[in-house]
Amino acid sequence: MVNPPRPHQPIRPLWLCRTCAAPWPCATARLALLREYADDRVALLVYLGGQLHDAADELYRLNPHDGPEPRQLFDRFLGWALIRLARDGPRVDRFVVSARAAPSGTGSSGSPRSETGPAESR
Ligand SMILES: [Zn+2]
Repeated sequence: MVNPPRPHQPIRPLWLCRTCAAPWPCATARLALLREYADDRVALLVYLGGQLHDAADELYRLNPHDGPEPRQLFDRFLGWALIRLARDGPRVDRFVVSARAAPSGTGSSGSPRSETGPAESR
């Protein structure tokens, strides 16, 4: 099966929508992604996680002193999809819980922590 093209693609490394210039994923891109991954929401999260990883790297490289906060990037790339998944039923709640309960990295354990993970430092 061939998916229809998604015109609302990001301009990298700016991560703005090529069509509407909104921060990517724009509303239209989100709807298209939900349609495209309607049968495999976990694959959607994996895809968005990869995009988040790339965007965090590129946006911080572009503007290392005034880039977006990790929490903002998380909400922008993954938060919206997790909220939608949580509404679909209890089976996916564990994804929300595991994503929100990421280790905060406090203490001296030196646990590796992605700079793109959810910010827990508020
Ligand atoms: Zn767009």
